[in-house]
Amino acid sequence: MLAEIIHGIANFDWQPSPYRPRPSSSGPTQCRRKLTYRALEYPERKPGDRFAVVLDDSSWHEELTCQWIEQSTFKLHSQQMPLTIPNALPWLIEQEQPFTCSMCQGTVQPGSLHGHIDGILTDLFFEDYLFEHKAINHFTFESYRKGAWPLDHLTQCVLYFEALHDIQPDLNIAILLIKNKNTSGYLEYLLHYDYDSKTLTILEATSSDGTTIDLGDPLPTFVNLFQDALDQFATIEQHRQAGTLPPRQYEPHDWQCEYCPFFNPCWESVQLNDEAVLELSEESAKLAVQLYELTEERKRLEKEEDKLKRAFRLLLKNHGVRRATGSTISIKLKEEQRSTVSQDLIPADILSAARRTTTIEKLRVTPHAETIKAKPTHSAYLRVINQ
Ligand code: SF4
Repeated sequence: MLAEIIHGIANFDWQPSPYRPRPSSSGPTQCRRKLTYRALEYPERKPGDRFAVVLDDSSWHEELTCQWIEQSTFKLHSQQMPLTIPNALPWLIEQEQPFTCSMCQGTVQPGSLHGHIDGILTDLFFEDYLFEHKAINHFTFESYRKGAWPLDHLTQCVLYFEALHDIQPDLNIAILLIKNKNTSGYLEYLLHYDYDSKTLTILEATSSDGTTIDLGDPLPTFVNLFQDALDQFATIEQHRQAGTLPPRQYEPHDWQCEYCPFFNPCWESVQLNDEAVLELSEESAKLAVQLYELTEERKRLEKEEDKLKRAFRLLLKNHGVRRATGSTISIKLKEEQRSTVSQDLIPADILSAARRTTTIEKLRVTPHAETIKAKPTHSAYLRVINQ
């Protein structure tokens, strides 16, 4: 009775939000082409009903986290405080009229970058921290836990630091708290921003399960996130004024495209010409050579791995054992059950009805003659290992 209607209710009043440079839409992994479609006011595909609830859930997760924080020794304040960097986008001064922010009802002057922080945390020693909260899906959360950097969120923090500088010049530490919406796990990044060098450093990254992410030495430091974000907004504006689109940043099977409201205008017109050939720039040609070398190296390593595995399997079998051990390493031959389907036992009509043909893309890099030198191969493991 309710399950069928809730998603529809949530999405009933959906309206596309007009494009405006915002801290929350900055960062290197944001698709510039998608933002340009929005700046050019292309009609947007309405999100799926369930997706509307997924998006809405994220802001409620933030509310819930803030309620837990209120029970801690930290004091959370200045929630949704509006911040503005005047003249951050000078190319917009002539283009824009002052507008009223729909969130804070403040008047924003043309060329300003305007946003709202999630809050400021104050600890028992009256130390302040910029607070930024994100609630994300399990897949992305896991990628961060395994060491990928949340670059867009880091960029957003940098923009807020810059906007806060006139108000609170000593505030240069942030806590970026990321919640896994599926498991309620948290990742916390402690960040330091240097206003003079415009560098952001991750000081600590800890998970609510007690583990820490190894940051290495020196600590990960990001240069120019502020200027890169402004340049990205400038690029979008250039395209908006020219009525052009930047190159695509993702492929159709990437989640960014799958969820993109401009998927159709973006991809529907793409038909690859079998005859025409694109001339690669010098830089792209070098990268193509690098790709070829990496592919060849991977193939060579896979071959070497296979040879070594074969040699060790034979060693164990020749000695009639499953395990071997050295001073620092052990080898074990395990048996695992694997089930397969014998296609010849399936009646031909069923097999043919079940068969599906899909098209996959394969990228092949072929060097022109004598561009690449073949790498020497190593072998003879079997002889050495069996000695
Ligand atoms: S479909 Fe993909 S490449 Fe095209 S605008 Fe959207 S995210 Fe970018």
